[in-house]
Amino acid sequence: MGFLKNLFGGGSAKSEKRYYVFNVKCKRCGEIIEGRVDLDNDLSLEFEGDRNVYFVRKGLMGSGRCFQQIEVEMQFTSNRELVERQAQGGTFVE
Ligand SMILES: [Zn+2]
Repeated sequence: MGFLKNLFGGGSAKSEKRYYVFNVKCKRCGEIIEGRVDLDNDLSLEFEGDRNVYFVRKGLMGSGRCFQQIEVEMQFTSNRELVERQAQGGTFVE
């Protein structure tokens, strides 16, 4: 069971890399929303020509009264390095 192994036997180095954390700023109200990609569970494998890419799409919403939905799309390599990211309804901030 990979699940239990991750919970009890996972080294700290691995769990640090498990999440890719990012911030997006809502275009409408300016709120900064933190999002998180679970690199173990959120990625889906897609084939682009002769290479594999890991793809994730997320919808984020702020906690305020603004109902702007921010759509985020990202691509990672098999080493979980970010290749490309796009946001609709918001922009990435560091
Ligand atoms: Zn907003």
